[in-house]
Amino acid sequence: MPLVSMRQLLDEAAKGGYGVGAFNVNDMEQIQAIMEAAKETRSPVIIQASRGARQFAQDRYLFHLILAASELYPDIPIAMHQDHGNSFETCKSAIELGFTSVMMDGSLKADGKTPSTFEENVAVTKQVVDFAHERGVTVEGEIGVLGGVEDGHGAGGSGLDHITDPDQAVEFAELTGVDALAIAIGTSHGAYKFTKKPDGSVLKMDVLIAIHKRLPNTHLVMHGSSSVPKDLQDIVNEYGGKLKETWGVPVEEIQLGIRNGVRKVNVDTDNRLAITGAIRKVLWTQPEKFDPRDYMKPAREAMQKVVATRMTQFGQAGHAGDYSPIPITEIAKGYADGTLTTQPLVAAK
Ligand SMILES: [Zn+2]
Repeated sequence: MPLVSMRQLLDEAAKGGYGVGAFNVNDMEQIQAIMEAAKETRSPVIIQASRGARQFAQDRYLFHLILAASELYPDIPIAMHQDHGNSFETCKSAIELGFTSVMMDGSLKADGKTPSTFEENVAVTKQVVDFAHERGVTVEGEIGVLGGVEDGHGAGGSGLDHITDPDQAVEFAELTGVDALAIAIGTSHGAYKFTKKPDGSVLKMDVLIAIHKRLPNTHLVMHGSSSVPKDLQDIVNEYGGKLKETWGVPVEEIQLGIRNGVRKVNVDTDNRLAITGAIRKVLWTQPEKFDPRDYMKPAREAMQKVVATRMTQFGQAGHAGDYSPIPITEIAKGYADGTLTTQPLVAAK
């Protein structure tokens, strides 16, 4: 199956009332883990690459690995997404490479650290939307600022510093015409999200619900949504790791989000933990091993298990065969003639 537009994938998710996990990749084994999990659970899937991943793997390797996945798994719809584009140029280069979706994170300036103004965010996001839609490519924008840092990207600090204002979310969606909207509700990137199990004081699900009420048809995106399960932390620490105790976003809260307009759920840390735990276990218990396959295979299997579990929990399992891919050129026509709307439905307060 050719790579599909993320817009189509999220529109279908909205119809079916489920969420779709967006899993980060840097290398072949992670792509293989995701695809095997998608096959096992018959799930459509979003594979995403950060700027750091594109640098690590090099663009051409990454693109061809994902292309290989689309050839090897013809029954699985795959959207290829740029995670946290920091500038128009980053998004443009991803689109020219063949990504079917980009995130323009204009909540930060191009340095990927300093919060930007609302006007700056609107301007750069709109520029990306115009360029992307002409080519049938999906755009995710961000309003509000997430906490933490991942791959060198992020404002740092607590996720509570810049919670999304629902009125601003409405205005942002209207002014930019984004297909999907990442919002800040207290989540952070990285493993150290919360120092205790998060409750309403740190995870603002009420803000998410308020935004969904105002923008009932807008696809919302939850970032920093690894659950950081204790069993994965324990495996790392049991075999010589030194992770401090930490909490992620409970799956029940993500599911509450999915019942309230969340269609894309970003997961990276859980997979990193699964891989590291599996590798540590082999190297710690069998120190005579030196063939990378001896630890990469269990690492890949451990990630597949996490991804398959999330696919089932987010509800995307079983939906791979629901639809056929619309060619990207047709999607571009849809944006041009208005059959694919870019103006959000806005409900009164
Ligand atoms: Zn993110």
